[in-house]
Amino acid sequence: MKGLGFHELNISRELLEAIKMMGFEEPTPVQALSIPPALREEDVMAQAQTGTGKTAAFGIPIVQRCNGSSRPFALVLSPTRELAIQIAEELNKIGLTKRIKALPVYGGQSIDRQIRALRGRVNIIVGTPGRLLDHIQRGTIELNSVRVVVLDEADEMLNMGFIDDIEKILSHTPKDRQTMLFSATIPAEIERMARRYMKRPTRITVDPKSLVVSSVRQVFYEVRHEDKLKALARLIDSEDPYLTLVFCHTKREVDEVSRRLQQMGYLAGAIHGDFTQAHRETVMRKFRSRAIDILVATDVAARGIDIPDVSHVINYSIPQNPDSYVHRIGRTGRAGRSGIAITFITPREYRQLRLIERATKTRILKAELPTKQQVLKARKEELLEDLREILQEGDYTGAQDLMETLTGEYIAQEVALAAIKLLLSYIDIDDEPDNGDLSYTRLFMNIGRREELRPSDLVRFISDSAGIDVKYIGHISIKENFSFIEVSEVVVEKVLSALDRKSYKGRRLAVQRARR
Ligand code: ADP
Ligand code: MG
Repeated sequence: MKGLGFHELNISRELLEAIKMMGFEEPTPVQALSIPPALREEDVMAQAQTGTGKTAAFGIPIVQRCNGSSRPFALVLSPTRELAIQIAEELNKIGLTKRIKALPVYGGQSIDRQIRALRGRVNIIVGTPGRLLDHIQRGTIELNSVRVVVLDEADEMLNMGFIDDIEKILSHTPKDRQTMLFSATIPAEIERMARRYMKRPTRITVDPKSLVVSSVRQVFYEVRHEDKLKALARLIDSEDPYLTLVFCHTKREVDEVSRRLQQMGYLAGAIHGDFTQAHRETVMRKFRSRAIDILVATDVAARGIDIPDVSHVINYSIPQNPDSYVHRIGRTGRAGRSGIAITFITPREYRQLRLIERATKTRILKAELPTKQQVLKARKEELLEDLREILQEGDYTGAQDLMETLTGEYIAQEVALAAIKLLLSYIDIDDEPDNGDLSYTRLFMNIGRREELRPSDLVRFISDSAGIDVKYIGHISIKENFSFIEVSEVVVEKVLSALDRKSYKGRRLAVQRARR
């Protein structure tokens, strides 16, 4: 599909103009494949990963086909309010030259205001299922003029339990409508819906080999649960991200992580379903403008959000399923930019990681947390940069008073050295534990309760045999015939070679890494 320009897709001059104003140079694959059948009024069912431009893939043909009458021509269903707002914004841009108007309609906003807006000229309604049904039941939305229905992020709507609502809404639209479905993944239930509600759809699949865009570098860190916050802070310090999106498993975890980050002095915000719409919008606006540069969120709250500048996605908790991983990772590496996706896993979560790798057909590489020394080095370099900048500008307002006092007692070079030493004490991280405490490897051993092994025996046996401090030994779990034992990354080789060919109570030991 490469090489096909927008002008080769039967797009009108008016729309080509709007597309140019949006800064789109050439169509993405899903656009090149979807626009022609959509313009021919065929049903379309397209699967493409997040960030591939699905909005314009249905937005361009809808706006082009739209007759501009005052009654709604198209209806777009979206899983979340944030996404509905975003889609409507994009549709209004596409519709700018043709004066086609899209209106987002979502829960959380005053329904009276929406009713008033719906009385005006609206060509495309973009709504969340619940609120749309509400309007249909109140008779404040009339859908019999609708010619096109789009189910956007269909898999998400399915995950959020909107299937019944969607079916009800569809039943209020004309049977001879055009139906389009866009989704990052096509689970069986979506297939079933497509069979029931679509007419021989043209199927489009983009890049089925890997569900994750190649511009995203994917790594994982093995981190014990209780060390995750420290690991997060260390990563942010060493990676110096532009904007970071941190995903947590639960609302409580979102609250906890964002609060602790704020306490540590990071500019962090949080969104999840318990916050009011107004609050969520404020937080999103701050994140977009970089007034905060870390946003902690649940899957649901961050769904579909398009912020092109997210440089780092961090899975503070590993996603529950591969689809969720794909969606989260899709928040970075948007519009061809490069991004980094980082996943924290505890030693027990290797299986889940492999499952994600298999389902998404990608490799997630293991990475080591930066050491204290590396973080310190990075901070020193930043400090140098900052100092150089001040020296370059030569503006010492506010500093002169103290300098004069001190140079009355010491020579200038000494004063400068003392000031730098003081600055260094601020960036020092001596009070943080080294990686030994952060990164553990789980080992498997072929001795267990059968050998009357108790945790304290095992700790002593290992620390004696390998000559290591007990602080390097983490969780121990003793089963009937074998045991799992966590040892710090920094001593794991030592432990492995020390125990190799050793015996315990007459039993020849076999020890190996427990991963995979
Ligand atoms: P999806 O719905 O597939 O997740 P979006 O429609 O939200 O993706 O698009 C992702 C980003 O890419 C948006 O910022 C959008 O404006 C931009 N985009 C879409 N199409 C193009 C294109 N042809 N060229 C450049 N940028 C594009
Ligand atoms: Mg989308």
